[in-house]
Amino acid sequence: MFVITQSCCSDAACVSVCPVNCIHPTPEERGFATSDILHIDPQACIDCGACADACPVDAIYPADRLGTRDKVFIDINADYYKNNPDITTGWNGVVYPEIPKLPAGLRVALVGTGPSGGYALRTLLDRTEAEVTVIDRLPTPGGLVRAGVAPDHPGTKGVLRGFDLLYRDPRVTMMTNVSVGEHISPAELAEHFDAVFYAVGASESRRLGIPGEDLPGSTSATDLVAWYNAVPGADAGPPVRRGTADDPASGRAVVVGTGNVALDVARILVSPPELLATTDIADRALAMLREQNVHEVVLLGRRDQASAAYTSAEFRALSEIPGVEVVVIDGPDAELPDFGAPADPGRRRIVFLFHSAPEAIIGADAVDSVAVRTGERRHEIATDLVVRSIGYRSTPIPGLPFDDARGVFPNRDGRLLGDDGAVIPGAYVLGWAKRGPSGGIGANKMCAQAGVEEFIADAVDDRLTRTTRAAADFPALVRTRVRHVIGYRGMRAIDRTERRRGAQQGRPRVKFTQVAEMVGAAGRRKR
Ligand code: NAP
Repeated sequence: MFVITQSCCSDAACVSVCPVNCIHPTPEERGFATSDILHIDPQACIDCGACADACPVDAIYPADRLGTRDKVFIDINADYYKNNPDITTGWNGVVYPEIPKLPAGLRVALVGTGPSGGYALRTLLDRTEAEVTVIDRLPTPGGLVRAGVAPDHPGTKGVLRGFDLLYRDPRVTMMTNVSVGEHISPAELAEHFDAVFYAVGASESRRLGIPGEDLPGSTSATDLVAWYNAVPGADAGPPVRRGTADDPASGRAVVVGTGNVALDVARILVSPPELLATTDIADRALAMLREQNVHEVVLLGRRDQASAAYTSAEFRALSEIPGVEVVVIDGPDAELPDFGAPADPGRRRIVFLFHSAPEAIIGADAVDSVAVRTGERRHEIATDLVVRSIGYRSTPIPGLPFDDARGVFPNRDGRLLGDDGAVIPGAYVLGWAKRGPSGGIGANKMCAQAGVEEFIADAVDDRLTRTTRAAADFPALVRTRVRHVIGYRGMRAIDRTERRRGAQQGRPRVKFTQVAEMVGAAGRRKR
């Protein structure tokens, strides 16, 4: 019997390979969008292991090979079927769509190499004969899988192995280290391609809009995560107050929000540094976390625990961090610990404080404390660092319409809309850039597939404006603007070098933190 565990990304690759349809909920079933993980029916599983082979994030194991930490998932998988007795197994009735008859010689640009870009590329290659040029502003592909997934979740990053296979396809041209909006305009992409997909994610943080938000020591999850994940350009660590002999640091951080990103941040801040030292966390972050020694993280949830945004698998995993205690304070009138004093250095704790919202971040030159309203009570929490983790927004791209209020690119079912509200032919937006920052990696698969189907419908119905440019014109144009355009072989060289540096230290990789270093590792490889 096989079991699905915590790192399930819900991309449902396992569902389509299961010969007895024993993995649910499927994308067609109610509950798929809200389920933390998928579940294998222990009564129906025939032990073939096809699901484990197909899983991009190494989340599926035989029950008798589960480690202590994951044994709980045996019951979680089984309970799903006890609680949903109407689910049936057997032939799943999947009807595969016909291959559409498309015009010949379609050329498509795909901007972004995160999950939605990767899944869109797979669908484009499966469902069409188009030639695809894949563009990313960073030399390394992966989007938020590389820049956002926590260093202590290495299994999740396995999804990139599947995308890498696609980049090798002869119909694909990789062009990384090329920024759309800076080196190449959207108008130029529209001129050189029959269709352009923007899968550019959401890489900026939302703001709280409270006093003191810009004090040193107050930062966003976006910046903090980019810093510990070695994203180029995110070099500065959080300016955490170090304290003095007279006024010691509190050893406490406050995180606003209780989504999965907030949990990632809390785990990384409070985990014993020796645990993180075996991951691909940036050296710059590891050094500072060792020195800083945050041993208490307080997460503020403005509603009750039952409404918390985290998924239960991620919440449960917190209690598995060695030496870290998880405390939940739920109820508007619950007794509050003494948050005015420095945290007890003798223990590491993650404290969830529900019914609580920050009202002001306080400090003369840097953060000293945060004023919080819990129920009807206003109180202060002494802290060295405040991290707002309240959701992301897309970054506008010069030359593309942008919905500033929602922080997404305006679209109708993925078709980009101009300022006049009319569809821009041949321009599509996918993933978080389309629907906002919700859903894990797998949610982007369905979203990307749907976007590619819109493109197919437009191509079949002759709604695209075909490019009159020769295929060689675009790479030639890019080379006039970007000195070091990196292709597939250059990307592989960067990857190999990072892994080699990691192997010397018993880590999966040691990431480069500067574009210049990446360009150096890519060398002069042409494609
Ligand atoms: P999220 O799940 O939307 O959580 C946002 C949090 O911010 C919520 O707790 C929300 O509270 C709170 N919030 C929003 N505005 C606020 C305000 N003005 N004041 C106080 N609190 C406020 O967003 P996320 O954590 O950034 O995650 C984004 C997506 O990525 C999610 O779908 C998440 O599951 C996914 N993700 C998954 C993983 C994983 O599977 N391991 C890891 C990282 C991210 P309310 O609920 O009250 O609105």
